[in-house]
Amino acid sequence: MGNWLLDGLMPNRKLGRSEYFISQPEQSRITYIDFEKLTAKFANGLLTQNVKVDDRVVVQAEKSIEVIALYLATIRVGAIFIPLNTAYVATEVNYFIDNAEPILLICEPNKEEEYRQLDSAKVLKILTLDAKSQGSWLDNCRGCSEKFQNVARGKDDIAAILYTSGTTGRSKGAMLSHDNLLSNAYSLVKLWQFTSDDVLLHALPIYHTHGLFVAINIALVAGCTLNFLQRFEASEVCDKLVGSTVMMGVPTFYTRLLEHPEFSSKQCQSMRLFISGSAPLLAKDHQRFKKLTGHTILERYGMTETNMMTSNPYFGERRAGTVGHAIENIDVRIVSETNDGTLIHHNVLQPDENSHKVGMIQVRGPSLFKGYWKMPEKTAEEFTNDGYFITGDLAQYDRDGYISIVGRDKDMIISGGLNVYPIDVENVINACSSVKESAVFGVTDADFGEVVMAIVISSNQRVGSHESETAKSEILDAIKENLAAYKRPKKILFLDQLPRNAMGKVQKKVLRELYSS
Ligand code: AMP
Repeated sequence: MGNWLLDGLMPNRKLGRSEYFISQPEQSRITYIDFEKLTAKFANGLLTQNVKVDDRVVVQAEKSIEVIALYLATIRVGAIFIPLNTAYVATEVNYFIDNAEPILLICEPNKEEEYRQLDSAKVLKILTLDAKSQGSWLDNCRGCSEKFQNVARGKDDIAAILYTSGTTGRSKGAMLSHDNLLSNAYSLVKLWQFTSDDVLLHALPIYHTHGLFVAINIALVAGCTLNFLQRFEASEVCDKLVGSTVMMGVPTFYTRLLEHPEFSSKQCQSMRLFISGSAPLLAKDHQRFKKLTGHTILERYGMTETNMMTSNPYFGERRAGTVGHAIENIDVRIVSETNDGTLIHHNVLQPDENSHKVGMIQVRGPSLFKGYWKMPEKTAEEFTNDGYFITGDLAQYDRDGYISIVGRDKDMIISGGLNVYPIDVENVINACSSVKESAVFGVTDADFGEVVMAIVISSNQRVGSHESETAKSEILDAIKENLAAYKRPKKILFLDQLPRNAMGKVQKKVLRELYSS
C-alpha cells in the first residue's frame, strides 16, 4: 500500500521534474525536484522528533515554502497536519494544543517562550520557524537525508485537522482524510482545466482550506507553477498578474483590485481564470470586474468540513450572485422546513421549481470530512440520518438551477416571527449608486424579538458628510420601494469599513454583539 494523498499529489512521474513549483518571488524559487527533496528532509526531521503515525503536528508560522513542505512531510510520515491561523494568541493556542494533544508544535521564534508557559504545553516539543527560513526546526533538519520512503496510509486515514473559525462556541477540529483532500483536488483540476502550463497567483494565507488545500493541492496535482506572495497587497498583485494565468481570491481581493488606480485589463492579458470563494462576492463587483478587464470571475462555494461543493461552470455562463451547481461526485441538496403545528416536514427543493424557496444546503460525497475531532455528539448533530452534512448555509435555486447562498442559518433574522434573509436587504442597499457595500443583521428588540439593522459603507467613503445624507435618502427610497415593512432596517449606520476576518468574511456575530447592547 502506498501513501494515498502523497502518491496522488506527487506521483513519481513528477518527482524528477526540473520545472518550478514556485517561481516567484525569487527568494522562494524552487523546482519540483528540490521541493520533493525538502519534503523528504522534513519527513526525516519529523522522525528525529519521534513523530509517528496519527500523531498530530501543529504549525503556526508565517506563510513560507517551508510550511507547505511541512504539510507534505507530515503526510509522508503518516501523521496529521494541523495549521493554525497566525493571528491566534496564546490563550487560543492553549485551547488547540489542549484539544489536539499534538506531539510537536512549530511556531514563530518570537512566540516560543510564551507558548512554553502554557498549561497545555508542559510535555510538548516546541520548535521554531520564521518566514525568512530561520529557526530551530531548520536546525533540527540540517543533515537529514533528502530521501524518504513514505509511510503507507489509506484513503480513509486522517491527513489533517483544520479548526473551524468557531463563530459560535468553541472552534471544532474538522478531520479530513487523505481521500477527502485528494478527490476534491482531482475534481477541481478537471473542472477548472488546470494544466502544468498554469501559473497560479497565490496571495492567500495557508492555514485555511482555500489557500492550503484548494490552491496547493490543485497546483501539485496539475504540476503547475506558483507565484507565491506573502499576502495580498493590491499593487504587488497588479505586478504579479502579468505572467500569471489563474488567481484564487477571496472577494476582498477583487474589491481592492477594483479600487486600485493602476489596475486595468493590461495586467490581465496572460490570465485565463479568476476564481472567488470563501465569502459572497458582490454581484456589483462581479459586473464591474467584467467591464474593466473582460474577465468573468468564477465564483465557487465550499467549507472546511466539505471541501469545495459547488462552482460556476468553466465553460458556460458564470452567473453573478450565484455559486453555480454541485461539482462532480458531490451530492448537494437544498432542504426547506415547514411546520404544520404538530410536525416539521422536510422538503427537498427541485432546481427547476423556480419557487424562490429558501432551504438549508446539505451535502454528501467523497470530500466530506470524517467528523469533528473528539466531538462525536457534535458530529452526529450535524449529519442527517441518510449521511448528509448540514452545512448551516441557507440557499435557493434560480430558474436554471444555479444556487445562491442566502446566508448562514444563524445570521437569519426573525423579526416579529417573520424570517428576514440579510442578503435580500443587502442586495437592495448594495444596488444604490452611493453604496459600496453593506452588512445587515438582527439586533435584539423588546417588541419584535429582533429588528433589522444595516451598516453601510458608502462609495465615496466620507462618513458624516453631505454625501452620506444623500446615500441615506437613496437607501430609504430603495428599501421602501423594494422591501416589505418588516424587512426594512430600523437603523442604518454609516461606517468606513466592515469587520472582516482574514478570509474576507464579514463578522456578523461581532456586529450583533456590538449593536445589540
Ligand atoms: P470556511 O469553513 O472558513 O471555509 O467557511 C465556510 C463558509 O464560508 C461557508 O459555510 C459559507 O457560509 C461561506 N462561503 C464560502 N464560499 C462562499 C461563497 N462563494 N458565497 C457565500 N458564502 C461562502
